[in-house]
Amino acid sequence: MLLPAGAGLVVEQVQPRDEIVHLTVRCEAAGASCPKCGGWSEAFHSSYERGLGDLPIAVRQAVIDLRVRRFRCYQSNCPRKTFVEQAPVLAGRYAHRTHRLNSMLETTGFSLGGRPGSRHCQRLAMPTSRTTLLRLVRAVPEAPIESPRVLGVDEFAVRRGQRYGTILVDADAHKVVDMLEDPSADALVAWLGEHAGTEVICRDRDGVYANAARRGAPGAVQVADRWHLTHNLAQALERFSGRELAMLRPEWIAKEGMTKWGR
Ligand SMILES: [Zn+2]
Repeated sequence: MLLPAGAGLVVEQVQPRDEIVHLTVRCEAAGASCPKCGGWSEAFHSSYERGLGDLPIAVRQAVIDLRVRRFRCYQSNCPRKTFVEQAPVLAGRYAHRTHRLNSMLETTGFSLGGRPGSRHCQRLAMPTSRTTLLRLVRAVPEAPIESPRVLGVDEFAVRRGQRYGTILVDADAHKVVDMLEDPSADALVAWLGEHAGTEVICRDRDGVYANAARRGAPGAVQVADRWHLTHNLAQALERFSGRELAMLRPEWIAKEGMTKWGR
């Protein structure tokens, strides 16, 4: 009940010590397979304890003290003289945390980020640092990028006024597909070269992405996106209104004696 099913592990003792619940656990099998040659061995050499951080028990921090044995490998063609048994269902080879704790920390990292996630974990009796949470999030392999049929391209501010990149959006699925740290046309040309199949490129009305789209995906149709069209129209209307208003002002003042313009 306390351990994953089918792990081949036995809980020998559960003991609270200094606010931490310690589970002493051992492997059930009489021997283990050598990781080098695969030969079975029950020839005991020595043993030691591996401390593995685990999910909390009754809102108390928990640690699994896993007793692992070292066996001798007697296979004549094997270069390994000894090896240590593993509990792959519970934790990785050199891990200090169980898979299930890692998975919980990873989810927290994704939901809350580094610092707030770390505070949240502290309250839930899974103390961890913000750097650990961020490292776990970064370690998750990214899903392969599929080339979108309609690709939206725009500039985005990594740090407003200082650092800009390029954001790439699947306009059919309304999903961000990639972000390029380099906002140049060359970076987009390279990306388009690696992700063929784009039929329509939806972009701003500036020349940089137009140039990149021409070079990187010459067969694609280029369109200006709705936001930029509206934005440009709004800017044009503002300039027009400003000019017209400036021309109207002297006439109004003369005719109506208006003083609110400050003249
Ligand atoms: Zn071996």
